[in-house]
Amino acid sequence: MRLVLLGAPGSGKGTQATRLREHLQVPHISTGELLRAAVAAGSALGLQAKAVMEAGNLVSDDIVLGMLEERLLKPDTGNGFILDGYPRNLAQARALDALLDRIGQPADVAVQLDVATELLVDRLSGRAKLEGRADDSPDAVRKRLAVYSEQTAPVVDFYRNQGKLACVHGEGGMDEVFVRILEAINPTSDVG
Ligand code: ADP
Repeated sequence: MRLVLLGAPGSGKGTQATRLREHLQVPHISTGELLRAAVAAGSALGLQAKAVMEAGNLVSDDIVLGMLEERLLKPDTGNGFILDGYPRNLAQARALDALLDRIGQPADVAVQLDVATELLVDRLSGRAKLEGRADDSPDAVRKRLAVYSEQTAPVVDFYRNQGKLACVHGEGGMDEVFVRILEAINPTSDVG
């Protein structure tokens, strides 16, 4: 299955992607993780991305698309993938559509994790204490949430218009949310 995971920062995409990877036996591809790895490796791309990420802004579309294409062309994506953190604006959504068509692997479904803004802020400030990610500072979090509502929210309509959107209530326990996702992507299966 080729699944695109949508949701604001703090909506639980990473957590649910890990579970989906086990369940579906397909790789989890996170553009945020690919970028953080590039920053950690100190590559040219990482150096370009670092300050942009720490400010909570989006890294340029061409950098991310190139990195994603390289990842999608690895042989482990033959049975599908879970894409997390991409697309983040309409230009990326269109570029992804074109790329997936070109490699003959169109997306099957886009799952949107829907979580109220106050809860997102709570979760991200909790994570800031636990993980110390540079972009979980209060200013960067505010910026990332603003970028999400301005640039990423329209991507939800992009998939709705294609008839591929599954909207899932993302509040509650992690297991509860996971069961909702499974029901949304495969309404007929028995997920217990
Ligand atoms: P979150 O969704 O919690 O903000 P991510 O790990 O997905 O965290 O992304 C962290 C940062 O990496 C983003 O704020 C952005 O700077 C950069 N990034 C990740 N994916 C993309 C993308 N598709 N396009 C541009 N920048 C991205």
